[in-house]
Amino acid sequence: MGAILEQADALQDTDHARSMPLLALLNREAARLTPDQQWHLRYLDAWEAMYESDYPKSEALFRDIMRHAGNPAWADRASALLLWQLVVTRRYPEAFELADRLAARLPQATDAKARFAMLLNLSVSLAVAGQPDLAVRYARMALAEAPAGKGSCYSADSLVVALSSGHRLTFDSPELQQAIHACAAAKLPVFSTDLQLTVGDLYLYEGKPRKALALLDQIASAIDADGYIPNKLEAMVQRARALAAIGDDDAARKAALAVVAMQATGDWPRDAYELLYRIEKKQGHASAALDNYEKYVVLDNAYLDDVNVRTVAYETVQQHVLLQKLQTESLSRQNALLRMRQQLDAKTAETNRLYLALLLMALASAAVWMFRLKRSQLRFKKLSHLDGLTAIFNRQHFMGEVGRTLHLLERRAGTACLVFIDLDHFKRINDTYGHAMGDEVLRQVVVASRQHLRQVDLFGRLGGEEFGILLVECSRGQGMAIAERIRLAVEAMVVECEGAVIAISASVGLAFTDACGHDLQRLCREADAALYRAKRSGRNRVVADIENNGLIEA
Ligand code: GH3
Ligand code: MG
Ligand code: MG
Repeated sequence: MGAILEQADALQDTDHARSMPLLALLNREAARLTPDQQWHLRYLDAWEAMYESDYPKSEALFRDIMRHAGNPAWADRASALLLWQLVVTRRYPEAFELADRLAARLPQATDAKARFAMLLNLSVSLAVAGQPDLAVRYARMALAEAPAGKGSCYSADSLVVALSSGHRLTFDSPELQQAIHACAAAKLPVFSTDLQLTVGDLYLYEGKPRKALALLDQIASAIDADGYIPNKLEAMVQRARALAAIGDDDAARKAALAVVAMQATGDWPRDAYELLYRIEKKQGHASAALDNYEKYVVLDNAYLDDVNVRTVAYETVQQHVLLQKLQTESLSRQNALLRMRQQLDAKTAETNRLYLALLLMALASAAVWMFRLKRSQLRFKKLSHLDGLTAIFNRQHFMGEVGRTLHLLERRAGTACLVFIDLDHFKRINDTYGHAMGDEVLRQVVVASRQHLRQVDLFGRLGGEEFGILLVECSRGQGMAIAERIRLAVEAMVVECEGAVIAISASVGLAFTDACGHDLQRLCREADAALYRAKRSGRNRVVADIENNGLIEA
């Protein structure tokens, strides 16, 4: 079935008579065709309907194929033929709109036959639209892509039509001879005769009527054999024009009247009436001349109208297409702009997020860094306040803190007791047991003393084996008791060195705010004095400042 389908397709325009029974057979057996073959058959049916001039039927079939055929090749071929039909039936606006769509579709059309049909019919429709440049371009493309045989005839012919529409042909233009040869070789006599007639027309146009007549004689038998009426009419008109040109008015009149008698439509009767008008006028037959002139004018106006309609239709379609293109472009530009803005927004948001993250990170690391700095500062500060050996306040910090506390106490009339402690004969311990042992004793003295102090009390090493304590909110009695307990604790310390227990004792001097006031210097002097007295009076004892000019000793 596939082979029959291809055969019918090939014969349809070359041997139409033989193609008809094949088409009938295919339609009877349509159920046995594949879906794609069925679309192919529908295309051939459409072609057939168009050939029979059943334009409504062919158009319906073409449009069905264009809309529903799965294979784009059928849709493209159907569109190309519908274009031709629209031009032939003078539906110019629709034709040129379709031409525009086909031109846009062309780059995507891949099927060779479909492309070829598109190029050919685009060329024809643009020639009709009065666009010879475009028509020539498409015709040359068709020529380049033409399949061998009838394809090269069709495309060469369309090139001649396109060039002719732009008045770019002379009787000896190589394109004409090439086309005549191609169509003769392809055994398409109707085409080659038509092309010969184009040469005849050019002979006449260029003032060579005898050459035209010779050519007409030469192809007369071929024209009769073909039986193709348009060619016959064209030959008759040309013969009449040629005869008139050589001055054989009678023969010319006869030939022109023969054309009129054919009752054809198209340019031939118009040309015949024009010729008759000129002959009658020349011979002084005013009435006959006027009669022919009127008929000529009616037909020529119809022709001019048609040319006008075509041109206006083409221009209108072009404006419409341009407008649509502009709208599409501006729309797509707007879309692109919108997309760009969205992308930009997204990017900005992303960048902002990134910046924020960076900022937070920077802040976080700055905070960590500052925290560490502060911590080490604090640690250093704290260390700088402490005594390296015993880890209680050093002299400077102790004195500062005592001064500050005394100040506060003075403001709220609080009491305090400053205690100075000096280890007895410490030099001897160093000398006897070594400096390291001396250090150990110092540390243990601090541990033992601290057990008798409260959180609020201040404790510092004043230097060497001397310590200071500020007992806060402390009565004279409590102060004495605490000092005594410390002295006893030091005395009770058991520090052994190489089996020997080191004897340790401390002398303690006290000064109270209720007696000496809250002045640091004074308190220190008094405490120092008390300590001195403790040493003097035998060591290992607690001595307080002078109260009522008397010395209190524990
Ligand atoms: P006194 O009973 O009169 O106070 O006699 P003392 O030996 O304690 O008197 P002095 O103040 O003359 O001697 C203090 C000694 O303390 C001198 C020094 O060698 C020693 N010393 C000072 N600082 C340190 C220290 O940090 N470690 C050690 N092991 N000994 C120290
Ligand atoms: Mg000392
Ligand atoms: Mg001492």
